[in-house]
Amino acid sequence: MTAMKLVRRKFDTLVIGAGGGGLRSAMQLAQADANVAVVSKVFPTRSHTVAAQGGMNAALANVVPDNWHWHMYDTVKGSDYLGDQDAIEYMCRAASHLVVELEHAGVPFSRLDNGKIYQRPFGGQSQDFGGAQAARTCAAADRTGHAILHSLYQQNIRAKTHFFDEYFAIDLVKDSDGYILGAVVLEIETGEPLLIEAKTTLLATGGVGQLFRTNTNAHINTGDGIAMALRAGIPVQDMEFFQFHPTGIAGKGMLITEGVRGEGGYLVNKDGERFMERYAPHAKDLASRDVVSRAIAIEVREGRGCGPNADHVMLKLEHLGAEVIKKRLPGIRDMAMTFIGVDPIEEPIPVFPTAHYTMGGIPTNRYGQVVVPLGEGAEEPIPGLYAVGECACVSVHGANRLGGNSLLDIVVFGRAAGNHIIEHLAEHRYHRQLDEGSIDQALARLARWEQSGDGESVDELRQELQRVMEEDCGVFRTEETLVQGVARVEALAERLQNVRLKDQSKVFNTARIEAFELENLMALGLATVKSALARKESRGAHSRVDYPDRDDERWMKHSLYYEDGRVDYKPVRTKPLTVDTFPPKARVY
Ligand SMILES: Cc1cc2nc3c(=O)[nH]c(=O)nc-3n(C[C@H](O)[C@H](O)[C@H](O)COP(=O)(O)OP(=O)(O)OC[C@H]3O[C@@H](n4cnc5c(N)ncnc54)[C@H](O)[C@@H]3O)c2cc1C
Repeated sequence: MTAMKLVRRKFDTLVIGAGGGGLRSAMQLAQADANVAVVSKVFPTRSHTVAAQGGMNAALANVVPDNWHWHMYDTVKGSDYLGDQDAIEYMCRAASHLVVELEHAGVPFSRLDNGKIYQRPFGGQSQDFGGAQAARTCAAADRTGHAILHSLYQQNIRAKTHFFDEYFAIDLVKDSDGYILGAVVLEIETGEPLLIEAKTTLLATGGVGQLFRTNTNAHINTGDGIAMALRAGIPVQDMEFFQFHPTGIAGKGMLITEGVRGEGGYLVNKDGERFMERYAPHAKDLASRDVVSRAIAIEVREGRGCGPNADHVMLKLEHLGAEVIKKRLPGIRDMAMTFIGVDPIEEPIPVFPTAHYTMGGIPTNRYGQVVVPLGEGAEEPIPGLYAVGECACVSVHGANRLGGNSLLDIVVFGRAAGNHIIEHLAEHRYHRQLDEGSIDQALARLARWEQSGDGESVDELRQELQRVMEEDCGVFRTEETLVQGVARVEALAERLQNVRLKDQSKVFNTARIEAFELENLMALGLATVKSALARKESRGAHSRVDYPDRDDERWMKHSLYYEDGRVDYKPVRTKPLTVDTFPPKARVY
């Protein structure tokens, strides 16, 4: 296939990804009469946002006193002071408005007896800058993401967004001045490529949870958009910070929402001890996720784990009673009964930390524009390119995300990017001339996976990558494991060149898609392990046994990983928009 023969479609804007981030932007744009294309490799309502359980944070103060400034403080502290305070202020101020907007879009939030939106306590939340526990998470039972995604999809259908369902984005295309002008995508059913030209392109492709063997993520979360940005010459930010959620079903990885602990559930070790009281005397089971995950890993390592292999702890919620569990946590009960035959009304759930959330990603400013460094802290936007949601790093989560802040992030910055694109379209009314060479590059990648090698299968290699990442770059890291991790992932990347697609005689499209995904995973595995090796401190989710302390003097900076393996840094934006900076201090819960 040559660029000349390629089928082409033109839109004002191309949104790659139909999760909450992509659909919130697309809705904003379509309602403003822009001609919007949304490409998704799965049917939109199967995007991973559908799996979000516990809820979305906003200081509505419906249950206990609250305000956005306390939410901001908790988020900065939760980020272990690596979050950018201008973006965090913007997000926390916008939150209440965005919840109301979602409600008007059709999200059936759970209710209090007085009719107001129900809010549950989540980890890392406080009143009055570190005081009593707050209750800030707005929930639709334990199926909040499902409710949000379906409502946003319906609003997009109504606004006439054009959906390309089950199309896989391969690579971005640009003009000779570096303007991003759309992408080459592949129709999964037919294997036919298509060029979607657009005046602006938004990446909203979600996270890369499939890097790790035990994870809470869907099979599709392979970080495609982040890898596309990397191949387009954009360095990716803070990839060493990967969140391990404390309560995955032991041995399986599926998520048991923090909402369970928010409703009053708690963790015990083999002696029945409520061990979080030792690690976080004040917040206990509702300490920040990195703190709780490390505590569980230590309990198991020191021999206080449960079960025949002493390899997990127990999450108790029987004491909440059948009524609360059925009303507030029905999905969790279903999941525990289906996957491990445990009814949490009667017995505790075995849990262990599981890979969950990509804090790093494509660097953006708070308008969703993708930015690259110019030196001395200055940045410039890549013209025409935007990113929002879990694939982006704006950075509101810094080194550790607070539960309930991601659904918020995707709608706040989805909307902000939508608004910025509308302004951009008003000023740039005509399509620019594409550089045909950039199309050929994307097509060459396509051609690469038309041939099968005779090495191991894509699936075997993917599993090995996941095992290596878990062993060498998991909850606890050392120089030794990370040096080994870099060598092992580099060796796997070599083996990728000769990988065997599923069927030797005929290369099916799905096998090609899996090869593209593995290529993306491999690039981001390298980004993660190399960025982790370079950062010689412990901060948030990045826990170095050999450098156990946070080192603000040397390391309060964002990392930037380039495709050639180089790691560079840029400053944290510590100045908020209107309030005073929260300076770093010891992080205790
Ligand atoms: C089990 C679970 C529970 C969670 N619970 C909560 C919670 O209670 N509260 C909270 O705040 N956060 C929660 N999170 C996190 C939150 O749900 C996610 O971070 C967020 O939904 C991500 O949204 P997104 O729009 O960025 O991406 P996603 O929803 O992951 O969507 C990505 C989209 O990109 C598309 N895509 C990807 N690659 C390609 C490609 N190459 N070509 C075409 N399309 C592509 C996919 O098809 C999909 O449409 C949870 C996460 C998990 C895993």
